[in-house]
Parts: sequence; C-alpha cells; structure tokens
Amino acid sequence: MNVKPTVLIIEDEGYILKVLETVLYAGGYRVLSAQNGADARAAVSAYMPDMVLLDLGLPDVDGVKLLKELRAWTKVPVIVVSARSTEKDKILALDNGADDYITKPFSAPELLARMRAVLRRNMSSATPDDVYSVGEFKIDFSRRSVTVGGEPIRLTQVEYRIVELIARQPGKVLTYSYIISHVWGPYADAENNRILRVNMSNIRRKIERDSMSPQYILTEIGVGYRMAEKV
Ligand code: CA
Repeated sequence: MNVKPTVLIIEDEGYILKVLETVLYAGGYRVLSAQNGADARAAVSAYMPDMVLLDLGLPDVDGVKLLKELRAWTKVPVIVVSARSTEKDKILALDNGADDYITKPFSAPELLARMRAVLRRNMSSATPDDVYSVGEFKIDFSRRSVTVGGEPIRLTQVEYRIVELIARQPGKVLTYSYIISHVWGPYADAENNRILRVNMSNIRRKIERDSMSPQYILTEIGVGYRMAEKV
C-alpha cells in the first residue's frame, strides 16, 4: 500500500497529543486529532480513518462509552492508549471492541509495532488465510489440523476450538470471557476461568516446548491470551 494510513488520535491532553502526532508522523501516518467525544464522532464519520487511538479519560464522554458507540456502526480498528492500567480496565476496553491496549507512558517503538500488527490483521481478515504458522507451530484451519515441527498434535474438540479462536486473531489479546463465550457458548459462566485454564495447560503441554514458558500462546496476566506473531 503506497497510500499513508490515516490515524485519528482522540486525546484531550495537549502534550500527549503532540507526542503522539510526532511519533505517528515519523512512523509514516497521516494524522487527524480530536480532543473530545463530539469532535471524535464527527471526525470518524467524516474521514473514515484507517485506525483510531483512543484515550479513555475525555472531557465530555467516557472513552469506553465512546468505543461502544463506535462499535455499533464502524469496524475501524481502535487501540486504547490510556493511563488506566488495571486488568479490569483492559478487559473492559477489549470486551467492548478495542483491538489492542497500550498504557501510558508508552514506548514509541512499541506503539508503532502494535499499530502495524493491528493494521496487518485488519487487512488480512478480508481474505482469511487457511493456515497460520509461527515458529514451528502451524494450524491449518480447513483441515482442522495442528502441527509442531511437522509433527501432528492431537487436540480434543474443545482444545482445538480454543487454539483456532486464538490463532485466527494473532497478536490480539482475547479476554478470558471472550474465549469462554465463543468456545462454550453464551450460556457458559464467563466468569469461571478454571475450565479454560485447565484446557490451556493441556494445550500447552501438547504444543509448547516448555509449557512453563510458552512461546506460541502467550498469557496476558489477568486479562487473557494472545497468539504470538513471531518467536
Ligand atoms: Ca485524558
């Protein structure tokens, strides 16, 4: 793609906005900004940005509420950039449709890397690959097969569904409750992580070289799991 992606920064603090603008210009993006929810809504519908960076503490609306509103009508990727750093805050943002979450203060290279990953994921989701591989791990979605280093891995039905769900969205943190409701259905107790943890430890024993320091399916402590994009 030769056209520079357009990013809308929603941030009310002038200094942080300046820093973000500088980082994004240097990263090769076109940059728009909005300092409150009302301007942000208008900018998203007027300019259809390729990505949104969203601060949660805005003067006229809570960022999570704004995120929910956006999700009702647009699929624009949203990365939350916030000082709120508890697990609960991250889960709330991710469960309401954020594509990723970065806490302030952030490192510029990390932010740019996360942005590239989200854009890549967004573009590739238009034409879903039938295979995902990272390191020696490989999953073939059409054959429902998982191999590590060419060796077939025997997974139970449930284990496969968990791995498939996570591998379909590499790099993205999927929260525990998201995974539970997608694997066990909407009536499962999404607050009960135990069964998911038990399955994950079995999966790791099968696919990871060292299940105590996994390299394929990573833990985001207290939040969820993320498929590695490289090892
Ligand atoms: Ca703020």
